[in-house]
Amino acid sequence: MNISAWVRPNIRALKPYSCARDEFEGEAKAFLDANENPYNGPYNRYPDPRQRALKEKIARIKQVPAANILLGNGSDEPIDLVYRVFCEPGVDNVVGIAPSYGMYQVAADVNHVEYRSVPLDKDFGMHADALLAAADAHTKVMWVCSPNNPSGNLMDRDEIGKLLQEFQGMVVVDEAYIDFAAAPSWLNELDRHPNLIVLQTFSKAWGLASVRCGMAFASEEVLEYFNKVKYPYNINLLTQNFVSEQLDHLDRKDAWVKTLLAERARLEEKLSALPCVEKLFPTDANFILTRVHDANATYRYLVQQGIVTRNRNSVLLCEGCLRITVGTPEEDDLLIEALGRL
Ligand SMILES: *Cc1c(COP(=O)(O)O)cnc(C)c1O
Repeated sequence: MNISAWVRPNIRALKPYSCARDEFEGEAKAFLDANENPYNGPYNRYPDPRQRALKEKIARIKQVPAANILLGNGSDEPIDLVYRVFCEPGVDNVVGIAPSYGMYQVAADVNHVEYRSVPLDKDFGMHADALLAAADAHTKVMWVCSPNNPSGNLMDRDEIGKLLQEFQGMVVVDEAYIDFAAAPSWLNELDRHPNLIVLQTFSKAWGLASVRCGMAFASEEVLEYFNKVKYPYNINLLTQNFVSEQLDHLDRKDAWVKTLLAERARLEEKLSALPCVEKLFPTDANFILTRVHDANATYRYLVQQGIVTRNRNSVLLCEGCLRITVGTPEEDDLLIEALGRL
């Protein structure tokens, strides 16, 4: 596989902005290079454009070399970077599963890149052959979300493996919910697949959605292009320091995951006993896709009760479905009681 051949010619040739802190690394007596105000430290200084200290910590936790990590403003930023690096607007296309996370399509539209949706089967299973059949010479990227949003299930490992083997382009595996799944991450396979990009985030299991910090993991070759295209100071100092401090509490994240998985089981049991609930789809994430008697009416009723769920009624294969996030036991009891009154 020749990854660089798939990169847009203008990005391959791009000479990136060289910031002051890129040209000089290390200790100095006086920083007079970046036109910063010398007062109001440490906020007066431009932050590390490569976020080295934070990446070293993430590298230890994820057991991945820091050189294989890119940090972004949520997962949104690496999703957009995938298009900007690999997809020529108006020429190239990408293939994704349906239903799946909406940002892949929105970012495609923003970048004027055709998004080809391939429906999952009725159990939300993915078949590599169907995705490969949708591709042509201009297909640069395949999007796989596992566990998938909104269905909640993991995509079959062998099917993802087949895509990585056979597709002559990048395969992105979005693992936003991997902490909740009893399956290994694709991070362990980075060495074996030069066309693999894994996305993870601090927004879900780590409880840091407001902080906007997402991770992309890929080969150094791929990340070199991402680093050329991203805004130089895309992660500010406050975020770098705050996320770094949060990473010292891995045990707290693990405890939340354990609590949420137990609560998910309780919620599934309670929901399945309700007359208005027709089906619960199996989930490997912190939410449950639920088919109810009348999704639109149920959604509106719950809103009136002060309970917000995600109405997926108009999404392919999700007709009649609400997506319910696992909350605290108190929040979930409000939902169960409200549905019980229907
Ligand atoms: C929630 C979610 C994310 C996280 O996005 P951020 O921009 O990191 O908050 C990414 N992918 C999927 C599929 C999600 O559901």
